[in-house]
Amino acid sequence: MTRKTYFSEVTWTKDYFPESCGGDRQKILAMKEKGDDSMRYMWLDEYLLGKAGVTKDLQKDWNWIRYQIGGKMFAAVCLGEDDEPYYITLKLEPLEGEFLRQQYEDIVPGYYCNKQYWNSIKPDGNVPDELLKDLLAKSYLLVLAAFPKKKQRELLGVSVCGMDCTKCAFHGKDCKGCNEIDGKVFHAPQGKACSIYRCCANKHRYTNCGNCADVPCEIWKMTRDPSMTDSKFEASIQERIDHLKGVSPYGV
Ligand code: SF4
Ligand code: SF4
Repeated sequence: MTRKTYFSEVTWTKDYFPESCGGDRQKILAMKEKGDDSMRYMWLDEYLLGKAGVTKDLQKDWNWIRYQIGGKMFAAVCLGEDDEPYYITLKLEPLEGEFLRQQYEDIVPGYYCNKQYWNSIKPDGNVPDELLKDLLAKSYLLVLAAFPKKKQRELLGVSVCGMDCTKCAFHGKDCKGCNEIDGKVFHAPQGKACSIYRCCANKHRYTNCGNCADVPCEIWKMTRDPSMTDSKFEASIQERIDHLKGVSPYGV
């Protein structure tokens, strides 16, 4: 019978450990073969890699699998000497971490981390799955929020209005993408940022319009490619809102 392992089949590919991890695939593949009863949160790897901009590596000296955003760790699976998951470590606001440590005996001060912010969770303990998902999402947001807004947009791969500029037909040739050029796109008035960028990034200092309760606002409705039909424009608005929902740190 095939036993499930902590690492999902989906992410377990030859690219799992890039050269930067020292190429220690053999050890990890052996773990996969062995199966893993010490981790009840089988969804964790796929869940974290599903978040925008997340990368992972193996910190060989510590034997930690690190999940990072912009090169900064926000979660880790700490492996023991037997290469079994030993702790799941994540970052929280100090008061929340302290409260949770009192509520759950399986949540303890961060293992080999700054104990004010970091917390470690036993991977075979009783912390409910939904709570752990929520805490991991909070940790991701906490680390992401420490970057400047422009960098956050770059990491999330989304412009203020929910476009992924790298998928735009103009990208590269006529336009570097609004995040790169502070919203001064070729279709905006000469030398000025487009109205959505002006409102969202310059006036409100949001990461993107997903942080605004008014989305899609009148400015969105007026910022329109004139060649688009009504139905195409409506679909474009919905697509951008869906995109923002998927990546926005605070949700639409
Ligand atoms: S025109 Fe420029 S800013 Fe607008 S979506 Fe395309 S690449 Fe992004
Ligand atoms: S009002 Fe809100 S949704 Fe509209 S452009 Fe400004 S920040 Fe974006």
